[in-house]
Amino acid sequence: MSIAGDPQRAGPMIDPFGRAITYLRVSVTDRCDFRCVYCMAENMTFLPKSDLLTLEELDRLCSVFVARGVARLRLTGGEPLVRRNLMWLIRRLARHLDSGALDEITLTTNGSQLSRFAGELADAGVRRINVSLDTLKPDLFRQITRWGDFGKVMAGIRAARDAGLQLKINTVALRGVNDTEIADMIRWAHGEGMDLTVIETMPMGDIDGDRTEQYLPLSLLRARLAQTFTMTESGHRTGGPARYVEIAETGGRLGFITPLTHNFCESCNRVRLTCTGTLYMCLGQDDSADLRTPLRTTGDDAELARAIDEAISRKPRGHDFIIDRRSSRPAVARHMSVTGG
Ligand code: SAM
Repeated sequence: MSIAGDPQRAGPMIDPFGRAITYLRVSVTDRCDFRCVYCMAENMTFLPKSDLLTLEELDRLCSVFVARGVARLRLTGGEPLVRRNLMWLIRRLARHLDSGALDEITLTTNGSQLSRFAGELADAGVRRINVSLDTLKPDLFRQITRWGDFGKVMAGIRAARDAGLQLKINTVALRGVNDTEIADMIRWAHGEGMDLTVIETMPMGDIDGDRTEQYLPLSLLRARLAQTFTMTESGHRTGGPARYVEIAETGGRLGFITPLTHNFCESCNRVRLTCTGTLYMCLGQDDSADLRTPLRTTGDDAELARAIDEAISRKPRGHDFIIDRRSSRPAVARHMSVTGG
């Protein structure tokens, strides 16, 4: 696909498999104040700050994506709320909400900084956020996150709810770690008026431990939960890969994100931008496009839009994650914190 002149004149971005690309996830920093065992090694080397796109550059690049048909923007990381002045970027991007070009700006966060920022987020036009939380047990929380403070996250969740933000809890299912607790987490989240989604561990980046030990197929978890709860399929969609069921006992919704047991690539509508301006067309593949160079060498947004279109023309059909006992190597070398979960 090529466009000339004004990026807004081109039609929506359609990839080679006929999927419209309307969703951009932006990792605004690779840094995080937690060190979750399945996500990072404790001793991570982060990018030098000089490699990062400035907030102005992120705004410009996101705005070209919006002009090219992206209607939903999710900021992630690393931990997005540890990026200095992130609120400036969100307030800038909110002009696209006002114009109607963007449907929503959302955030995926570990919740550690929410007490401080919840009010400002709501004020800037953010309506819903995802909070990642893998346990309700403070000691286990510390073991999983290594550095996290459970009380702070709970206070953050309360602050976000008080600010009027709609919350969804994302829980990575970890065999032998939190799998027996998921039913309690569902009761808790639903009791607080929040949806909960469970996620399969994906083999991304070197960590200190062995991933095959942690991997729990959600088909197994679902079968176990079916002994406790009455679950009926739900048509609910949030534009993401989660598939939902309604739980009769709690009246709430439970989502499943199953990249390994059930490949959801056929409906993929998204691409992922890193904080250095690299665009990944698939979470589970290595092919990427460098957008930082055109961003820095041209003042012409049409040229940037052309670089984006060229990248979309290379979006693969899907990922091929496998968790394989014969190989200890991750399927994708980069950590989730680089591309954003
Ligand atoms: N710091 C933010 C947070 O905690 O939500 C945003 C970034 S974090 C990388 C995004 C999500 O990816 C979190 O829910 C985290 O649990 C999940 N995640 C990280 N590594 C993962 C992996 N290897 N497999 C599955 N989920 C992973």
